[in-house]
Amino acid sequence: MDFTLSPEHQLFRDTVREFADKEIAPKAVEIDQTHEFPWDSLKKMAALGLMGVPFPEEYGGAGGDTLMYAMAVEEISRVDGSTGITLAAHTSLGASPFYLFGTPEQKEKYLKPLASGQKLGAFGLSEATAGSDAGGTKTTAVLDGDEWVINGSKNWITSGSIADTLVFTAVTDKTKGAHGISSFIVEKGTPGFEYGKTEKKMGLRASVTSQLFFDNMRIPKENILGQPADGFKQFMQILDGGRISIGAMALGLAQGAYDIAVKYAKERQQFGRPIADFQAIQFKLADMATQIEAARLLIYRSAWLKDQHLPFGKEAAMAKLFASEIGEFVCREAIQILGGYGYVEEYQVERMYRDVRLTTIGEGTSEIQRIVIARHLLREAR
Ligand SMILES: Cc1cc2nc3c(=O)[nH]c(=O)nc-3n(C[C@H](O)[C@H](O)[C@H](O)COP(=O)(O)OP(=O)(O)OC[C@H]3O[C@@H](n4cnc5c(N)ncnc54)[C@H](O)[C@@H]3O)c2cc1C
Repeated sequence: MDFTLSPEHQLFRDTVREFADKEIAPKAVEIDQTHEFPWDSLKKMAALGLMGVPFPEEYGGAGGDTLMYAMAVEEISRVDGSTGITLAAHTSLGASPFYLFGTPEQKEKYLKPLASGQKLGAFGLSEATAGSDAGGTKTTAVLDGDEWVINGSKNWITSGSIADTLVFTAVTDKTKGAHGISSFIVEKGTPGFEYGKTEKKMGLRASVTSQLFFDNMRIPKENILGQPADGFKQFMQILDGGRISIGAMALGLAQGAYDIAVKYAKERQQFGRPIADFQAIQFKLADMATQIEAARLLIYRSAWLKDQHLPFGKEAAMAKLFASEIGEFVCREAIQILGGYGYVEEYQVERMYRDVRLTTIGEGTSEIQRIVIARHLLREAR
């Protein structure tokens, strides 16, 4: 068993780390305050190949692997959660459905511009009445001649109102429940595709989260992704992969908050000495660092399993569950170490705490991760 990163992985991580510190970090406080979407950062990330890390070069990607992709989300999120979730949603949710299930024509038309970062992608699964129970989709798709007619709505869609391409789910056979769901592709500007409100969120404020409406929206027959009624199977697979990146996002935010806390603890003087001299503070730092290391091992292992084409669903759910829960713990402890300064915007840990909160909810709540893990465990125990 070898835990060292390959020279390629180390170089990749160092490059993204330097880029994040230089290009993303300086804007993080401001865009959190203004809620301004970081288009500029995305352009720079595209130039570096970060918008399509795990996709082959022939499809416009960087030809990297899942581990590199997880490290990219981790390093970007370390300095800014909003840019981190935008990258994760674009790659795992917006682009990967085309890579996994697209026809050669769909890969050419949609995956290439997404993976190269010329376009932004989104994924619409959740609805007002279909959250954890995503199979409860109410949006419908009816074939009318050479077109699908779509009616319904989607909630909480990351980059939904600004993305160029949306993959979404809709019911094509009402008699089959969750197994009558199919996946479709729609482009921005299609008549009948309307945007509702942009959510005002607790954190991740520079990322866009939108309601979407489909009102007799017509899309060509060929805009179905994969086979009819494969939607449920497809989104389970998409979410398995996506969980690695949400775990990586939580890990990055935890690392960012820890780094600020440890630096502050060494500088802040109280009772005539740095607060890092107090054992109460040292114990906090020890717990934070240990949990971060454990989360990193879980995330990197699930990424490695995926890259080896081995089963990784249980491990990805464990990684996401653990990283998101320790992420919240670490960011909270960082605020405590900074005292009053931890509670103000300038010192950033309060933003990280608000940002990391989403990671126990999005792409399956912690409760749903436990259900997924338990299902795997009980199946294995048969
Ligand atoms: C910022 C943000 C970005 C998002 N981005 C996207 C996106 O890009 N695309 C997309 O499709 N969706 C997106 N989502 C939606 C997200 O995936 C859902 O919010 C999440 O799956 C939970 O669904 P819900 O909010 O409807 O909660 P609910 O499903 O209503 O859950 C409420 C509570 O009940 C618990 N619960 C539900 N069922 C069970 C059960 N069987 N056992 C035990 N507890 C249960 C949950 O764990 C939770 O605590 C996003 C959400 C947010 C907030």
